[in-house]
Formats: sequence, C-alpha cells, structure tokens
Amino acid sequence: MTKERIETGWNFDNSYARLPKSFFSSLNPTPVRSPKLVILNDPLATSLGLNIKNLQSDDGVAVFAGNQIPEGASPLAQAYAGHQFGHINMLGDGRALLLGEQITPQGERFDIQLKGPGRTPYSRGGDGRAALGPMLREYIISEAMHALRIPTTRSLAVVTTGESVIRETELPGAILTRVAVSHLRVGTFQYAAGRGDVKELRMLADYTIKRHYPNIEADENRYLSLLQEVIKRQAALISKWMLVGFIHGVMNTDNMTISGETIDYGPCAFMDSYDPATVFSSIDREGRYAYGNQPYIGGWNLARFAETLLPLLHEDEEKAVELAQDAISTYNDLYFSNWLSGMRAKLGIFNSEGQDESLIEGLLSMMKKHRADYTNTFRVLTTGKIEDTVLFGTPEFTEWHELWKARLERQEESKASSQQLMANSNPVVIPRNHRVEEALEAAVEQGDFSVMERLLEVLSTPYTDSPKQAEYCTPPAPSTRPYRTFCGT
Ligand code: AMP
Ligand code: MG
Repeated sequence: MTKERIETGWNFDNSYARLPKSFFSSLNPTPVRSPKLVILNDPLATSLGLNIKNLQSDDGVAVFAGNQIPEGASPLAQAYAGHQFGHINMLGDGRALLLGEQITPQGERFDIQLKGPGRTPYSRGGDGRAALGPMLREYIISEAMHALRIPTTRSLAVVTTGESVIRETELPGAILTRVAVSHLRVGTFQYAAGRGDVKELRMLADYTIKRHYPNIEADENRYLSLLQEVIKRQAALISKWMLVGFIHGVMNTDNMTISGETIDYGPCAFMDSYDPATVFSSIDREGRYAYGNQPYIGGWNLARFAETLLPLLHEDEEKAVELAQDAISTYNDLYFSNWLSGMRAKLGIFNSEGQDESLIEGLLSMMKKHRADYTNTFRVLTTGKIEDTVLFGTPEFTEWHELWKARLERQEESKASSQQLMANSNPVVIPRNHRVEEALEAAVEQGDFSVMERLLEVLSTPYTDSPKQAEYCTPPAPSTRPYRTFCGT
C-alpha cells in the first residue's frame, strides 16, 4: 500500500524572475540554526491553498526559516531605489528574499517573501537579519489593517531562528513570511528610470500593467493610465489611513507600492488623542511623516513616480511633463473626496451638503483642543453615550452636537441606518501602542505568545462591539515620556 502524501500546497510561478536580470539577484536564504514556528496565520494559509498541518511540520517550518526551498520557488532579492526622507538612494532587498509567487486555488497570484533571511547583494552594511519584536509588530499591525479593510501586505508566519541579532542590544532573531499582491514599489520604477534604459523601464511598466491593471492594457496611452490608476489607489489608501488614525512612519518612496497596498511596517503606530502633528518614529525628527502630513507626502511620492514614467508618457519631453503634471494635479481632489466621504460615513451622513466639511473640521478641532481620543470619540458618537467623551459638557460640543443632529435629520435615511453606517465605519478597537508593546514584551522577554494571540483575536473583528473588546479600548494612561517607535533594522 502506498502511503498517502498530502502536499503542503506550494504552487509557485516566478513571473518577476522573467524580467531582465538587472531587476534582481537570484540567491538562496542563509540557513539558520534552530528554527521554531511562533505564529502561523491559519486562515491566510488556507486561502493561499496551503495545508496548515504540513506548514507546521519540520519541513514546513524549514521553508519559513529559509532552510529549505520549496519546489518551484526561485528565491531572489529585488532591486529598487528610493527617496529616504527626501534623498534618493540605491536600496534593494537588503534583508528580504522573494521565494516566488504563490498561485492560489482561485488562480490569484501572491508574492511570498521572507523578511530577515540573511545578507543579499543589496545589504550594504546590514546583516540581512531581523529581530523578533519588529517582525511580530509587522504581523500584528498588518493583520489589524487587513481586518480594518485597509489594503495591506499580510503576514503568514513568524519563526525564530535560534540565533541572535545584534542591534543596540542582543535580540532574538526571527523571519517573517510576508504575502503581497506584489512588491513593486515606486522605488522599483525609480531604479529602472535611474538606469536610463527605456526598454527595460517599458518592460517593467508593461509587467506592472499586466499584473495589476489589466483593464488599461488596451488604452491609447497605457502608461498615462498606469500613472492615473496608481494615483487613484494611493489617494484611496492614504485616506483610509487617515480615517482610522494610522501613521505609517516611513513613507519613503521604496515603501510605497504600485498596487496600493500598505507595505513595510516599521515605526508605524495608531494615534490615540487627535493631533495632526503626531509623530512616533524615533528617526523622523522633523515630522516629515507626521499623521497630518501623510496626504501631502503621498502626493510628493506620486510626483516621483510620475517622473520615472516621463520617457514612456510621450516622445516629446515637454508634452510628457504636461501629461504627468495634469495627472498629479488630480491627486489632491481625489484624496480629499475619498477622505470627505469616509468622514461623512463616520458621522452617519449618507448624502452631501456644502457645510459638511466645516462640520467635520469643527469636530476635529475640538478633539485637538481637548486632546480627545480619536477612535473613542467616533465610537461615542456611534453608540450615543456622549457623556463618555472629554468633549461632553463644553459649550462648543453642545453646539456642535445640535448641528450634527440637525444634519442627520435633514437626510432621508433613518436614524437606525445612520447608526449602522457609523458602526461600520468606526472601529471599536485599534492596535493601541501600549497593547502592542505589552504583547511584544511578553513574547520577546518571556517567550509568552498568549498575550499577542489574545490581542490578535480582538483585532480580527474591529467593528464588532463585544465585551471582550472593552479592555482593549482604553487609551494609555498619560505618560511624561512620549511614545517612540523604532525601525527595527
Ligand atoms: P526599510 O527601512 O525596512 O524600508 O529598509 C530600507 C532599506 O534598508 C532596504 O533596502 C532594506 O532592505 C535595508 N535594510 C534594512 N534592514 C537591513 C538589515 N538588517 N540588513 C540589510 N539591509 C537592511
Ligand atoms: Mg522598505
């Protein structure tokens, strides 16, 4: 009798590896001493067509650790450039390797990337490795973003390596397996444009269109359409960040995708009390990537993307610049209309009136003045327990509240449907920094992953109001020390 063997389900294609050689370097991960699986994303694994039991076996874990290459994979480090805090640099996957593209049973294509698998030709001075804390942080926040219905890369697994990484102190090493519709970045185009090889740039653009925007393939000027589509996706994405109070922290052009997914969770964090100037990242000393600056930086990054496409937009350079500028000039309005309709939904408003913007601004400026918690203020308006906000009792809030109630009464929709819209648009829980830190500390310092598992469970249904969410809704106690996040490199 033959023993039945259930395959893990890896089903790779490697379309990126069929691009010209200048776009990547093929190499295998550097094996690690003693890999141990610390978290596996069961629902994601299943949706990718993978067998959970096999993934948990020694062979399965060896793949997440880079100790074994699954059949059909073709590991490579991608080349890219990027503006880091405004300055252009040659970068590339210095501590990541693309294993290949998993084709799911539904025929979808996802990049499977190891983050932290050892040095690559793009590592510069770095060790190509990652520490456990930052990898778990990416896991938690990316999965929370997904549950908040925000386009994002996802996290399939984290393994510890049994090796240490040296940062300011010695830390446990880990590898994250990241899943993305692709890892094409604005920086990938900057790299191609910087090389000055228009043929290769065109190949990259055609590849991108085929992979992400097949609907524009037959357009008269498909490269202009590509620019317009990316502008649309990023305007939509950044408005979603703003609506939930997410701060990316390092919006360098290499950390902005062409697909419109959020990528590279380094020093990111969610805002507690509302203030557009909020910055958490220890390296963002000038507040370039502050909460309120993100829409502007989105436009700046897209202008860099537009520049890379100039040789493809028109053979006449002046005309190309004109086309690019016209496209870029749509970004502000696109962003703003996405944000405005999102804000209307957060306030239970279905239609549009000219004064809506000032109604929203009125609320936000009160929140800023009184340091009201961003998430909880919208929740309180949703549940109607307005006495729970610090704004309650102030004359300005009383006045605002009357205006808002009158606004809701002027629309056709019932109060119940308004409340339903708000419940759907205002999360009960977000990954609050003190909760994330607590989970990471338990995992990294004590090897206790249960705190993180409970947090992940609560974050997986952010729009559901249940008793177990309650304790995760409390903002942190006021601290004298400002909260700081680190890139974890
Ligand atoms: P990030 O800040 O994660 O977007 O990374 C910026 C650049 O630095 C990318 O090219 C990374 O691959 C590279 N990098 C970050 N950490 C390391 C590391 N430990 N070793 C090598 N390269 C790294
Ligand atoms: Mg990056």
